[in-house]
Amino acid sequence: MTATGALEHAGPVPNDVPIPPDEILVAGEWRRGAGPESATVDPGDGAVITTIHQASVADVDEAVARGAVAAAGPWRDLLPHERARYLHRIADGIDAHAERLARLQTRDTGKTLRETSALVASAAGTFRYVAAALETFDEELTTQRGPSLTMSVHDPIGVVGAITPWNSPIASDAQKIAPAIAAGNAVLLKPAEWTPLVSLALGRIIGESGLPAGLVSVLPGQGSVVGDAIVRHSGVGKVSFTGGTTTGRVIAHAAADKLMPVSLELGGKSPTIVFDDADFEAAVAGIAYGIYSSSGQSCIAGSRLFLPEARAEEFLDLLVATVRRLRVGHGLDPRTQVAPLVHHRHRDSVAGHVERARADGGEVLAGGEVPTGPGYDAGAYYLPTVIAGLDNSSATCQEEIFGPVLSVLTYADEDDLIARANDSVYGLACGLWTRDYRTAWRVARRIEAGTVWINTYKQFSSSTPFGGMKESGLGREKGRRGIAEYMRQKSLYWGLDAAPHPWAG
Ligand code: NDP
Repeated sequence: MTATGALEHAGPVPNDVPIPPDEILVAGEWRRGAGPESATVDPGDGAVITTIHQASVADVDEAVARGAVAAAGPWRDLLPHERARYLHRIADGIDAHAERLARLQTRDTGKTLRETSALVASAAGTFRYVAAALETFDEELTTQRGPSLTMSVHDPIGVVGAITPWNSPIASDAQKIAPAIAAGNAVLLKPAEWTPLVSLALGRIIGESGLPAGLVSVLPGQGSVVGDAIVRHSGVGKVSFTGGTTTGRVIAHAAADKLMPVSLELGGKSPTIVFDDADFEAAVAGIAYGIYSSSGQSCIAGSRLFLPEARAEEFLDLLVATVRRLRVGHGLDPRTQVAPLVHHRHRDSVAGHVERARADGGEVLAGGEVPTGPGYDAGAYYLPTVIAGLDNSSATCQEEIFGPVLSVLTYADEDDLIARANDSVYGLACGLWTRDYRTAWRVARRIEAGTVWINTYKQFSSSTPFGGMKESGLGREKGRRGIAEYMRQKSLYWGLDAAPHPWAG
């Protein structure tokens, strides 16, 4: 078998989407960042899209100071249903600009237009869901155990930081900004240096919603400078971070020094497991989607495939045939299934992982190379790849590659399977493919993962909490109580005794 994908690049694809001007948002004010200039590149063709002056540490200081004033202003005291109206307006603004936002994100990240359109829709949905959750966020009257009426209420934190990665900018931005402002805070968003454009466009839409100026800042720049300044700033009371585990650990250390709460959505190396009674056709489709959509640049990508020994060969034949048919091309070509990676440097990192897998004795059953030819040469493409023959303890099976690379393993029985599927520092997600609900229930409960998909993969819902176990993170986003992650809990005791306390008498 040769290791090729379906190469059908349509050639140059015009994407004349308007590019945001070279301005960042500092607490309501659009202006040129005071930090260094950096270029953002279209990974589909290698062209520089634009250059942006990044935020400086002084910009961060100003955003925190003015954000604190805005958070202490009328926003804090608006009733939940009044704040919710702004969130609905932001959602409407996202919908009104949906096509432009999706095309912009395709330019900046390389992702297919189908994926970026879904991310834009998900961002609007997040604002609407959070608005609904906010309007129905009941405070709690706790059970009375003495001469006081007791209740638990929630206050805003003040200024919070939101740091997001490059793989799904507008969706991960919305996942943090919506609950942060719903909870009554000001928020400083630091998008990834490689993909600032859609976050800046979202900042404009938020500004047009009439939200009080100063509540939202969008501060692109390097993580080690701008991100670090946000995390360490004494005026920032919480940081919500999505990104790699190494960075998450650095942020957790800085947060420990300040005793600041953090939520961390980190990396993964998720197992996807086929049982011998599974619907193979559905499993192949779901597994291919789970690892190769977004070109594998997804924290929840199902990157370790576990097959039952007795049926592994049969399954692999179906899978490899499917992988070889996947169409690799530009994100704007509607036929494309596997788009370029976000950046040439990241593509080279993925290629390096595959070379190491080969050196360690891995057998590449599909892909395993950079496609060449017209349309591909200037872009950051990599073929969807299947590797077999490595042990779960190998670097390939333990490290997050964050690209279109699937490792195949086999298992003898359920105990062997559970032991090896859980043998990972990560615990983000898992997929199970079986027709037996008892197997699914048993294994789902034994797997160490924040999310388990049964006969499906990579489905998301704003109403269902999301987060990792082990080194995949701390805290949960989404769900009705997702707003509480951006609040401080407070207990109130209302004395009911008519007489003075007897102690003083
Ligand atoms: P990084 O951790 O390198 O970067 C994430 C963000 O953190 C970027 O904005 C980055 O800025 C910033 N950053 C980097 N260093 C610091 C620092 N010292 N202090 C503060 N901020 C910093 O991750 P990647 O960009 O490589 O993104 C991929 C990772 O994100 C993968 O590991 C993936 O699994 C994870 N991820 C997790 C998700 C989840 O929900 N669990 C979802 C999506 C991705 P800069 O742009 O300069 O690097």
